[in-house]
Amino acid sequence: MSNIPPRILVLGTGGTIAGAGSGGTGAGYRPGGLSIEVLVGHLAALGLSAELLPQEIARIGSQDIGFAEWQALHAACMGALADPSVDAVIATHGTDTAEETGLLLDLTLPTTKPIVLVGAMRPADAVGADGMRNFANAVKVASDPAAAGRGVMLVMGDAVLAARDARKAATSSIDAFKSFPRGSLARVTPSGLDWFGPPHRVGEAARYAFPTGLPRVAILTAGAGMDEQPVKALLGIGCKGVVLAGMGQGNAPASVITALAEAAAAGVPVVRSTRVDEGIVDRNVEEDDDAIGLVAARALGPAKARMLLMVLIANGVTDAARVQAGFDG
Ligand code: ASP
Repeated sequence: MSNIPPRILVLGTGGTIAGAGSGGTGAGYRPGGLSIEVLVGHLAALGLSAELLPQEIARIGSQDIGFAEWQALHAACMGALADPSVDAVIATHGTDTAEETGLLLDLTLPTTKPIVLVGAMRPADAVGADGMRNFANAVKVASDPAAAGRGVMLVMGDAVLAARDARKAATSSIDAFKSFPRGSLARVTPSGLDWFGPPHRVGEAARYAFPTGLPRVAILTAGAGMDEQPVKALLGIGCKGVVLAGMGQGNAPASVITALAEAAAAGVPVVRSTRVDEGIVDRNVEEDDDAIGLVAARALGPAKARMLLMVLIANGVTDAARVQAGFDG
């Protein structure tokens, strides 16, 4: 690392990392209660060797994030990538939808500078709050030139995860995120930062254009004994795509699969993902995807599969073979 402190744009969106009003226990707090200027001020007091440039995008719980915030985040990141005086970007974010925002940015940004999302599981004013530690770790990651070319990353605890692999897997423990199919990209230690492999996306352009809007795509969770009526209801409200959070390898009762195949034949892309925590959903295992026109989500769970499908549809990709290529990529 050079001796000139890196200049890092810090985009605030809210979330528990900026949570306030918890009365110390973590109950009854407001996500986004603290402004990004206040958070950055807390961090600056730690004496880290970086110049942090705060910019507020929103102050919300990430369960309320949507297209307007994503558009503003993307535009701010593009500005930072084009600005030679900025070395990296950190975005503070709620953990509930960090995987969706992370994947959207990963799909639509080039990867020439470090871009890091960071969140926390405990509000800033709760006993044992994890936010400042995670934030300090994110600064360490964003300050490392070797963090470029790795796609968008999520720093939680002492782990650095690829946004494409990260998944929230616990509602409240501070070790809430898992990484699949790859493990973490790096580990932050008290004195350093250990990368477990070389960057894999050096110089890569954005894979997809940032959309001008996102289509309505629903996640349908399969349950034993269900029938095909929920599929019909989703098509009835104008869904442009459906992600099945299926049982096991992306399975569902026969009548549901038949209704989904009919939707696919009518031009509504259908992706089979899984309601199981982790694992690959592959083509043509129990369902004959080649025959029924469905797409296998591969390693993406339902939330990320929905985001990728929305981006694909918004980019005019609806044909099953091309949608599958997007999931294979
Ligand atoms: N509901 C919060 C959010 O996503 C949870 C968190 O940040 O951990 O904003």
